[in-house]
Amino acid sequence: MASNRQLSTVPITILSGYLGTGKTTLINRVLSAHQNLDHVAVLVNDFGSINIDQAIIAQAHPQGNILSLANGCICCSIANDFSSALEHLAGLDIHHVLLEASGVAEPAKLHRQCLYPGYHPHSNFVLVDALNFRKQCADKYVGYLVRLQAAQADQLVISKTDLVSEPHLRELPINWNKPNWHSDDPELLTLLIQPDATARIKTPNHDPAAANPNSAAFCSLTWQPPSSISLHKLNRILAGLPSYVQRVKGFVDTAEGVKQVHFVAGNIAFSDSPQAQGSHLVVIAPASKQAALEFHFRNLS
Ligand SMILES: [Zn+2]
Repeated sequence: MASNRQLSTVPITILSGYLGTGKTTLINRVLSAHQNLDHVAVLVNDFGSINIDQAIIAQAHPQGNILSLANGCICCSIANDFSSALEHLAGLDIHHVLLEASGVAEPAKLHRQCLYPGYHPHSNFVLVDALNFRKQCADKYVGYLVRLQAAQADQLVISKTDLVSEPHLRELPINWNKPNWHSDDPELLTLLIQPDATARIKTPNHDPAAANPNSAAFCSLTWQPPSSISLHKLNRILAGLPSYVQRVKGFVDTAEGVKQVHFVAGNIAFSDSPQAQGSHLVVIAPASKQAALEFHFRNLS
């Protein structure tokens, strides 16, 4: 159906998956694996007010066509910004768009938004965190969304497979009949950036539960740590976060140098960052916890 028209429009590959599943890491690996990316655009949607993911990618790939869409999710709150970005790209010689969705996006909604004049949704990959997926699925605030994201995938990408045993991996509650990849599979790096024009364009099954009022809503706040905070103190603050906090990421100028900070499902990781971007951490939590989250940060000592 309308396949000729679809072949002449620009394919958009959608990469989604819950907060902290490794979308940015995967995109960085895709960009590093290819030399000539002049005709590829990467659109990065970050739920927080500052686009940390875009900063991480742009730092590693300063020459790339990397566009930032921040301060909301394009599938629900900032759809107009997405349209504007696609309009902007239409003026460039772009042959393929790789969209990094926000961690709270619903793949089927994104798919519909990619049905934009001049574009077509090509394939929708959803990342599943092998280490944390089961726990997230059972979470009373976010379990519904995490399960929905995996259910709406055309293809599943399983990350952090090195952190789990083979039996644990095989028992992940996902639909194994769908095409699935390990996130470090070299074939995947090509697939994400060079969509095969003959590949079947598949619409995710409409999920009647998509309008479910239990669908999780999220809030974010941006916290500026005190200047030259010690790594020890920063670690203590992160370790003391309430259990409803889903994700923390950003850059902090600590007494021990500039660090990239990642907090996923209670696990804290720091890595050295080449340049100071100002200190700020974006913190994401269920919307119902917004007041509690603000209170927590106002009262840090
Ligand atoms: Zn959304």
